[in-house]
Amino acid sequence: MRVKLRRLKMPAGQTTIQRERRKLPHNRARAVKSAAVWYAKNREKGRAYKAVAYAVRTYNLTRGCCEKCRTDENVCGFHTDFAQPLKVTWRCRRCHGAAQRADRLAHATALAIPINARRMNEQDNDQ
Ligand SMILES: [Zn+2]
Repeated sequence: MRVKLRRLKMPAGQTTIQRERRKLPHNRARAVKSAAVWYAKNREKGRAYKAVAYAVRTYNLTRGCCEKCRTDENVCGFHTDFAQPLKVTWRCRRCHGAAQRADRLAHATALAIPINARRMNEQDNDQ
């Protein structure tokens, strides 16, 4: 959100400058290194993403429109299980993000100790 605000405040053409900076050799090298680190940490996800990209490229999988909002812009495969890499539902960038945030929230709330209970324990210890 903060990044988005900063981008809105930028004069027109600033994003073009950033795009050009990304192509500079040292920034490109940094991006390649960063991607390699990510793939090393997230092997299963990485394999699933690459499998979908390859299947789409070789016409074995057809990119559909977003299953939530029916747009056909910025559509990508949404995995519910990375062990089944080609089993995807198609979501636009916005709906994909919303679905991931909902999943993360559900996971976090399932794991988390209620904040109020934790505070009450801290108060008990102080007294
Ligand atoms: Zn959508």
